[in-house]
Amino acid sequence: MSADGPQTSASRTGEAHRPAIRLANYVGGEWRGAAGVEAIADVDPATGETVAMVPLSGAAEVDAAVAAARAAQPGWREVPPQRRARAVLALREELLRRRRELTALVSADMGKTLADADGEVGRGLESVESAAAIPHLLKGENLEGVAAGVDVESVRQPVGVVAAITPFNFPAMIPLWFLPYAIACGNTFVLKPSEADPRPSALILEAVDAVGEIPPGVVNLLHGAHDAVNGLLDHPGVDAISFVGQARTARMVAERAVAAGKRVQALGGAKNSLVLMPDADLEQVTAAIMGSAFGAAGQRCLAGSVCVVVGDEERRERVRQALAGAAAELRLGAGDGAATDVCPMVSAAARERVATAIGRAEEDGAELLLDGRGDGGPAGTMLAPTIAVAVDHESELAREELFGPLLALVEVADLDAAIEFVNGSRYGNAGAIFTRSGAAVRQYRYEVEAGMLGVNVGVPAPVAWFPFSGWNDSMDGDLHANGADAVRFYTRQKVMTTRW
Ligand code: NAD
Repeated sequence: MSADGPQTSASRTGEAHRPAIRLANYVGGEWRGAAGVEAIADVDPATGETVAMVPLSGAAEVDAAVAAARAAQPGWREVPPQRRARAVLALREELLRRRRELTALVSADMGKTLADADGEVGRGLESVESAAAIPHLLKGENLEGVAAGVDVESVRQPVGVVAAITPFNFPAMIPLWFLPYAIACGNTFVLKPSEADPRPSALILEAVDAVGEIPPGVVNLLHGAHDAVNGLLDHPGVDAISFVGQARTARMVAERAVAAGKRVQALGGAKNSLVLMPDADLEQVTAAIMGSAFGAAGQRCLAGSVCVVVGDEERRERVRQALAGAAAELRLGAGDGAATDVCPMVSAAARERVATAIGRAEEDGAELLLDGRGDGGPAGTMLAPTIAVAVDHESELAREELFGPLLALVEVADLDAAIEFVNGSRYGNAGAIFTRSGAAVRQYRYEVEAGMLGVNVGVPAPVAWFPFSGWNDSMDGDLHANGADAVRFYTRQKVMTTRW
């Protein structure tokens, strides 16, 4: 491994005394240092130390990665689906061998707790497992006798070269939503991970490198930021884009990709509501709401960032006390701390953005029940759980994605009003209802405009065999990540009408 190599050690010990590793791209089966390219710091959110330098790839590096993927694609398409499935299973074995290291790296790079990071890696592995069913998933359809002696059949063929552009908040799971399905379908792949925490992706590529069944050029890694993204979006050698990130980036990516003639799935931001009905057991649901609102410091696209409290004055007061009381007990600390409930935010800038939004909410008339703006910690990234009653249901606090450990309470009289509030969102990623009433659940499922719903479940993340199915501004494009949608996205159909 050269100084430019993919070193991905998660250890904090002694890192302050060592020069930060400069990460390398992985192109055509080789680690390439992107020498001469400007690099930015990848910072440990808990300590503020620079743990790696991330090269900001430009046009030349994009060209090289796409050329390697392009060159490998015809040969990879020839590999029978069963053998591609075995390659995916071999990747699973290599990832399992590195599971603890990957978990530690997710925690050290993004900041989340080790338990949360382990859950993320587990979810990523499930995507790999689900893609291993590709011989079944790729099968076409046929219809006999549409006219005298005439039959029709359809087959699925790979789209070609797929580029995936991923966000900081799930630095292992989201690359693994795309990589296994894309290559199982016979495509080749270029991954551009978040520049904020790319080390888990580097480790995933080390696992790819160790799998003999995946030939050079089938999977490539391109470090960088906006220039790399724009280069991929405009590149004629890229056929499809899988993107996850903020809504405004998703919209830009979708528009630019379509203008360049590519197919695109662009998963955007969210503002998810948890509807708390008067019949729900407050003690039972409080833990679920704490996990949903404050897990990963609120930096999840499935975070419940609004709790819609249904009930009279007395119920509202009880809910305020229960939630603020439980949140005040949560312990803030580094992701690898054994006692940590709430991790640091990904960067000091992200913490500052949310702290400022709390100030604005207060000025706008929100009632702060719990104020987490204290000491920002050694790296300026710590923000304790904050809960505020959004008196104005159309305020920034109630409507905008703020992406931090900040829970808004919206208080309403009945389920109709709760659903009206939920459906007033521009987003539609997820939502949940807490109740004992089947009738309430039935109305909620029928009327709510969001793609992933929970019933007495705070984080309704579908397992990998189902699509990750956000609606409205939480998704640009038609076909979602994972499940049968992923296979449809990564393949083109050909329909043949035959007479012999
Ligand atoms: P982001 O949009 O800032 O970045 C995502 C990717 O886009 C990164 O790789 C980044 O380099 C690139 N990028 C960002 N701005 C760009 C620009 N102007 N031009 C070109 N490229 C650009 O997102 P983030 O902050 O890393 O991730 C958090 C966001 O992702 C949140 O909004 C969260 O809700 C969303 N998210 C959504 C889902 C989902 O399934 N819908 C899942 C996870 C995260």
